[in-house]
Amino acid sequence: MEAEPILATRNLTIAFGGFRAVDGVSLIIKQGTIHALIGPNGAGKTTCFNLLTKFLAPTSGSIIYKGRDITSLRAADIARLGIVRSFQISAVFPHLTVLENVRIALQRQRGASFDFWRSERALKAFDKPAMVLLEDVGLEDFAGLPAGQLPYGRKRALEVATTLALDPDMLLLDEPLAGMGHEDIQRMAALIRHVAANRTILMVEHNLSVVAALSDRISVLARGRLLAEGDYASISQDPQVIEAYLGT
Ligand code: ADP
Repeated sequence: MEAEPILATRNLTIAFGGFRAVDGVSLIIKQGTIHALIGPNGAGKTTCFNLLTKFLAPTSGSIIYKGRDITSLRAADIARLGIVRSFQISAVFPHLTVLENVRIALQRQRGASFDFWRSERALKAFDKPAMVLLEDVGLEDFAGLPAGQLPYGRKRALEVATTLALDPDMLLLDEPLAGMGHEDIQRMAALIRHVAANRTILMVEHNLSVVAALSDRISVLARGRLLAEGDYASISQDPQVIEAYLGT
């Protein structure tokens, strides 16, 4: 059966002065897929993410999530509906342990009070679900380590865990592999695939071999416009896509 769209944009546009950083972009992201947004620098990918999460308001066009027009909602409401961007809540507290970081994210999600020092028992109630999340991202062996001491790749995995604490239906990942070495890339790619088993993922990523391996569908932006869309085999042979990449 064809997957239903979870998110769609119609002619999404934002102009800064006279310059359209995102220009009439219509995307369809299907439920349960890994969808990549790629394109050369300055193509409008980050701006697109900012529009989807309402960090920026579009000049025109609309955003539909699960059949509902969410264009005029505020950022917090969009997160509450289940669209969460990885860095949104990914402030990692370096002096707290890895487990404590996830516990705080869970507490926040469940609306628990922040003055958790008052009740050790209330705090402990989050230990088990926090541990489950750490196992989910392969960090269970690091639970007691201060987060600041995590190697870079593991820190990014912790960001994913704190994001998952919000239980999003749709995860927006902004360059999840940036700055990683080979081993961390492989680990993060496996994690993205794992997370996508019951969630939809939209990611901006420059590592095209991983994009090719992970993505069900790829949208290519260039100069604010949607240039091509399809699986990797089709977009990588598209002359316009080749030109956009070579031309920068
Ligand atoms: P990408 O993420 O694909 O590299 P961006 O979305 O960051 O591209 O930027 C797209 C274009 O929009 C760039 O030319 C950038 O300079 C411009 N841009 C982004 N944000 C603003 C802004 N707030 N004001 C003016 N121009 C902006």
